[in-house]
Amino acid sequence: MRPLALLFVSVALFGADYGVLIRNGRVVDGTGNPWFRADVAVKDGRIAAIGSLADKTAEKVIDAEGRIVSPGFIDVHTHIEGDVEKVPRADNYVRDGVTTVITGNCGGSELKLADWFSKLDKLGLGINVASLIGHNTVRAEVMGTANRPATAAEIGRMQALVDKAMTEGAVGFSTGLIYIPGTYSNTEEVVALARAAAKHNGSYASHMRDEGEHVLQAITEAVTVGRETGMPVELSHFKIDNRRLWGMSDMSLALVEKFRREGVDVVVDQYPYDRASTNLGITLPSWALADGREKVSERLTNPESRAKIAHEMQEMLVNLGHPDYSYATVAAFSGNKAYEGKTISEINVMKGRPKNVSSEIETIFDLILQGGAHMVYHSMGDADVERIIRYPNTAVASDGGVRVFGSGIPHPRSYGTNARVLAEYVNRRGVLMLEDAVRRMTSLPARTFHLRDRGVVREGAAADLLVFDPARVKDRATHEDPHGYSTGSDYVIVNGIVEIENGEFTPARGGAVLRSGSAGQQPAPARASQ
Ligand SMILES: [Zn+2]
Repeated sequence: MRPLALLFVSVALFGADYGVLIRNGRVVDGTGNPWFRADVAVKDGRIAAIGSLADKTAEKVIDAEGRIVSPGFIDVHTHIEGDVEKVPRADNYVRDGVTTVITGNCGGSELKLADWFSKLDKLGLGINVASLIGHNTVRAEVMGTANRPATAAEIGRMQALVDKAMTEGAVGFSTGLIYIPGTYSNTEEVVALARAAAKHNGSYASHMRDEGEHVLQAITEAVTVGRETGMPVELSHFKIDNRRLWGMSDMSLALVEKFRREGVDVVVDQYPYDRASTNLGITLPSWALADGREKVSERLTNPESRAKIAHEMQEMLVNLGHPDYSYATVAAFSGNKAYEGKTISEINVMKGRPKNVSSEIETIFDLILQGGAHMVYHSMGDADVERIIRYPNTAVASDGGVRVFGSGIPHPRSYGTNARVLAEYVNRRGVLMLEDAVRRMTSLPARTFHLRDRGVVREGAAADLLVFDPARVKDRATHEDPHGYSTGSDYVIVNGIVEIENGEFTPARGGAVLRSGSAGQQPAPARASQ
């Protein structure tokens, strides 16, 4: 039941052939095929007909003359936990053309998915939501932040949690192997837990152990998980994040392609920006962050361990090719809002410290001891970003979250990822064709995560649809001014419900939780045979 939809249908023509009829558009169907002219009809949440429907009637007729009609975009790499509850309509995503997200990436998800899903069911979602089960989430539950390999008994308990989450509807397993505590695991542990998700036809999404110096080994490790378990592998937010190694994406993409030729199902996703966003903790050696907050403060207070951490940070910085921490900008810091939007180097000066790396490290320690910060890192080269986007098996994904408009100085990717690909890489640089760009936002991600009836304009598929002007589509969010909604989407339809009409939100919301095994997921063969 979607009571809000009734507001919209109150003007309904009883006895009409369809609920919604989109006339005269150019259909970019999500497969990558060239556009074709057709009318698209929607009934009961599904695409009911495609073709010449001039003699048909509908409760709502949309004239898409001069416009593209495409599937709603599917963003397979998001982190919406905790924020979708505040903005269930997910305005930033809907405005950017996104109608489905997969969350729980980088090893961090809700643990009790059934509970969370039923909470989301009641919110009136603007987007469809599917979730992965995160490695770090289950490891923290079983082992806290212990810096050691798991015992057989602990692996058994973690497997049981993964199995439970998959039964509750997760679409796969995610890792975040640079983060605490996943970084303390070995490949064996990851394979063992992934196996529990593979039994339910899940996919494997990995924030790899390294995205710079050791990226080739990290790709190989992720592929090993795919090989051992038979799962499709998604390499998350593919990049080269080491300034000294800019240009190396030719080698990393060649390795991905080599594995594909050998029969491993591995693809990548990417956000189209040269800055990354994550926590401040990643600037510290991982051993320094083990065993909980108290231990971390202890290490940062003890002069000996503090000096050792500082020394390793100096080395890490040199290795990443940065002269200082001016590449690191605070996005959100609850301890002092005045720091938001400032680099570590600037904050260091604000604190009256001398301009040098060791003082900047002291400043980082201060922030860590005050609860840490969310950061934006200028760590990628434009040539790598463009090369990765040109790779045909790269899906477009934001790595963003649901945003409360105006809050903090977040990475603009949550607002503008898809519009940016269309405006910058299709229209301005001309490195992608429109149909191919749309494929990377729709059928390619749907394929990897088994969303069998989404990501295409096809009769019988879920009616997640966009009507947009390809010349007008534009991202408005920048690093300096990140709270800006993308423009150009005249209509956004989610499960047959018109959420944006003539560029403005209607009161209706059509989003739903997508649990695996239902809502268009292919039933798991392994489960059927159990
Ligand atoms: Zn990540």
